[in-house]
Order: sequence, then structure tokens, then C-alpha cells
Amino acid sequence: MSNNTFQKVLVQALVLGLLPFGIIACSAETAENSENSFTSETPEDYGDLLLTYEETDNQEFEDIRAALEESAFFDDLIIEINDEMIFTEDINVEFASCGEANAYYNPEDSTITMCYELIADYVAIFEEDIETEEDYINEVIDASSFTFFHELGHAMVDQYDLPITGNEEDAVDNFATIVLLDVYGDDYGVLSGMLQFEDDAEVEQESDVEELAFWDEHALSSQRFYNTACLIYGSDPDAFNFIIEEEYLPEDRAERCEEEYEQKSEAWWTLLDPFFK
Ligand SMILES: [Zn+2]
Repeated sequence: MSNNTFQKVLVQALVLGLLPFGIIACSAETAENSENSFTSETPEDYGDLLLTYEETDNQEFEDIRAALEESAFFDDLIIEINDEMIFTEDINVEFASCGEANAYYNPEDSTITMCYELIADYVAIFEEDIETEEDYINEVIDASSFTFFHELGHAMVDQYDLPITGNEEDAVDNFATIVLLDVYGDDYGVLSGMLQFEDDAEVEQESDVEELAFWDEHALSSQRFYNTACLIYGSDPDAFNFIIEEEYLPEDRAERCEEEYEQKSEAWWTLLDPFFK
């Protein structure tokens, strides 16, 4: 991941004509003065993201914790986000053992929990690519970053009272994809996210149709895979042409992915604009 900052995306959005200049230049005034504005008033900055890594007795989880601590990837990322973003109260970010392969945001105590079990499962998908200590550290980071931004998306929807139409789970998948691409240009993190959905989709495809969780808040992994692939491809069809060439995404869907990406990227950066420092 590069050292680009969150703020740079606003410049990029301006260059691409994604955001009207007025919103960027004076978001607070826009909110106060325009009856038609849906942007929130910029709140006071009373909070930060607070990062902790829980120690465990499990050697595999300790290896993951050591990789995370040694790289300082999330430590640096969180310093950068705290520098750029307003939070009205602290949000805990805990890497911990949960007894299940999961990650979640709990609005009751404003805590994002990233379970070592989930990271271990995702690192296992890319086991073949791991030859050196450095490869391992990179895979741990790539396996964690999409999920972290998905959960941060939930935390922002909660704390900023963001208006979301459609399914929030889909919206924060989009946020994770867009922030990794737009702010960090992080191909590995975002492609790791896509391939994690593909891996889960393979399990679904081996199940009977009636066993699939159509009732779940989350779309099926097969759908999350295609939706994520579409946004990645749509963000830069030339750079991500392999998504079509290697038939990750059918051409019928790919046709409108550039528009899908622009619509969702613009929506997210417009919603978040009042919350940049
Ligand atoms: Zn979620």
C-alpha cells in the first residue's frame, strides 16, 4: 500500500469530476445554507480509532499477531485515518481470538473486532504463494485489509448516521473496495478480498440450493464476488482487464461496471466529505 492519504482521493475525485467543487470547499457552510443539501454538519472531533492486538495461547494466532505488529501496517493506517477523519467518539479496533472465523462491528461499545480465526482462514487460501517471512506478513495484511475497511464502513454508517439506501452489507463491501482502490491503489488487498469471496463461493456451489442462506443480511458470497469484481474492473478496465480475460466476470455484467464504479465511488465520497478534517 502506498503512502497516499485519504485526502488525496478528494483531489482525485475533483480531477475526475466526481464531486462538485462547492461540497469540497465548504462542506459545513453548504450544510447550513442549503435546504437541499443532504450533507451532515461537520461534527466536533472527539474520537479516534484505538488499536489493540490480543495475546493468545494459540501459536497460529500468535504468528498472525506478530506479523501484524512487526509490519505496523494497521498502526500506521490508523494514525493516517485519525489524522484525516473526524470521529465523534472513540472506535476500538481489536484483533482478537473470537472462537469463530468472523469480524464484526458492535455499535453498543463502538468496537470493530477482527478475529484471528478469519485471518487464518483467509491466509490459508493463499498458502501456495507464501515462501518467505515477508510473503507471510504481506498475506496477513492483504487477508485483513478488505475486512477491516468493511467493518470500518459499518462503524462510519453508525457514527456518522450515513443515509444508506439498499443493503448496508453491500454498501460497506463497496466502501472497502473503493477506499482500497481510490485512496491506496491497493490492488493486492482488494483482489485478496475478491478472491476470499470466490473461495467462500466455491463452498456455496457445493451446497444444495435449499441450504443456501438467501435470508441472510449478506448477499451470497457468489454475488459478493461478482459485485466486487465488477467494481474493481470498473475502476480501471485497462489495468484490471485480466478480470475479463480470465473469466472472473462475464462480459454481460462487465459492460456497465465503469458506470457502477463511478456511481458508487461518487456516492461514498460525497457521503464522507463532511467528516474529513
Ligand atoms: Zn458486515
